Amino acid sequence: MSSKHYDIVIAGGGMIGTSLALALEPLGLSVAVVEAIPRRAAAQPSFDDRSTALSRSTQRMFEAMGLWPRIVAASTPIRTVHVSDQGRFGFSHIEAEEQGVEALGYVVINRVLGAVLQDALDDLEGVDIICPARIVDVELAPDKAAAEVEFADGKQQTLTCDLLVASDGANSAVREMMGITAQKSHYGQCAVIGNLLPEKDINNVAYERFTEQGPLAILPVADGRAGFVWTVSEDDADRVMALDDDAFLAELQEQFGYRLGTFSKVGKRASYPLILSKALRLTATRSVLIGNSAHGLHPVSAQGFNLGMRDVAAIVDCIADSVTGTDIDIGHRSLLEQYSRWRRADQKKLVRFTDGLVKLFGSESQPLRALRNIGMLGFDLVPGVRSAFAKHTMGLAGRLPRLSRGVPIK
Ligand SMILES: Cc1cc2nc3c(=O)[nH]c(=O)nc-3n(C[C@H](O)[C@H](O)[C@H](O)COP(=O)(O)OP(=O)(O)OC[C@H]3O[C@@H](n4cnc5c(N)ncnc54)[C@H](O)[C@@H]3O)c2cc1C
Repeated sequence: MSSKHYDIVIAGGGMIGTSLALALEPLGLSVAVVEAIPRRAAAQPSFDDRSTALSRSTQRMFEAMGLWPRIVAASTPIRTVHVSDQGRFGFSHIEAEEQGVEALGYVVINRVLGAVLQDALDDLEGVDIICPARIVDVELAPDKAAAEVEFADGKQQTLTCDLLVASDGANSAVREMMGITAQKSHYGQCAVIGNLLPEKDINNVAYERFTEQGPLAILPVADGRAGFVWTVSEDDADRVMALDDDAFLAELQEQFGYRLGTFSKVGKRASYPLILSKALRLTATRSVLIGNSAHGLHPVSAQGFNLGMRDVAAIVDCIADSVTGTDIDIGHRSLLEQYSRWRRADQKKLVRFTDGLVKLFGSESQPLRALRNIGMLGFDLVPGVRSAFAKHTMGLAGRLPRLSRGVPIK
């Protein structure tokens, strides 16, 4: 069986793994990205039809990586977040202008973001893209990590590396191979996603409506269309997915109301079971977890990718320090501990906060309703809300990684 050595092997070339490979580029390391599903295939699970709201820290990262002009050209700015409660009058508004920013965030279809990221990856010289191929075994030793890669024809290859990074998603097999357990709890809900055509111009407004079943987000996307993320109870999901287009639109309209006129032309729908997953550790010998392999959040919180991008920023910062400043190698325990300490607080508190918010959707308590008025989108997208919350409630102090501050890594 053939073997090849890299500085870093990234397991999983989805949204987060691909972003990591791109972020590492200035460091001149040898990197392999191993991805199970053929690139740009319709079946690629990370770059699918979901729409993702990119927060300002993610925007800053892509700016520092030189990718923002291409991403912003494919995105739709959110200039207003509109939060409402079904069955109640009144709503709250958060305006970009009031916050002194151009946009509160940007919505991009994952497939479109995927094309931009994969094109950029194709231009890199130091990165081998090993795809379609699956990591089937991992051996972690103090001097190197080894990943067994299996190709579609059954052939295998061993990749050895100084550092193995698992970014193979919430059901991460590599995490298990690293000997790390994840705690999982089911919300008993599914997110039904897709896009539709509203009668009225959505006008760069992101709507978040709290319904009895959970939150419903309607996001501005390209060509006057709107993406939706509709939380339904697990027991009802199959029925909702099986509805014909007219019946589906009628039910969605009933939940949302007529602020955007009549909905029509719904696109392909998909349903995601909502599961909270938390890895009990972030590192093992010469290996780390990033993105959904470390934490899977309630997706309607619009924070999973943004949180994963902060993992990317932190691990790249740790690696950059070790490459340029000291003589320790990039899989050294001290580097992994630094990453773990750095990320633990943000991940843990965001998981707790998101989970808490999900659970209080049905709550009538006044302070909780006030918090609900900020909305989950507002929490992540509005400058100040997140940082104030972080400062006063979550205690997220300390140095932000360079990329999260918009500072190029080199
Ligand atoms: C409905 C919905 C809406 C969302 N909206 C938002 C939002 O608005 N904002 C936001 O920030 N986040 C959002 N999220 C969360 C976000 O989509 C995820 O956090 C993000 O996709 C995680 O990316 P990832 O690369 O870590 O994992 P994944 O996207 O799961 O990618 C994992 C990759 O690893 C590959 N792989 C798996 N096993 C192996 C193996 N053994 N060997 C090699 N490759 C392997 C897979 O093929 C895949 O390409 C949403 C999620 C959902 C479900």
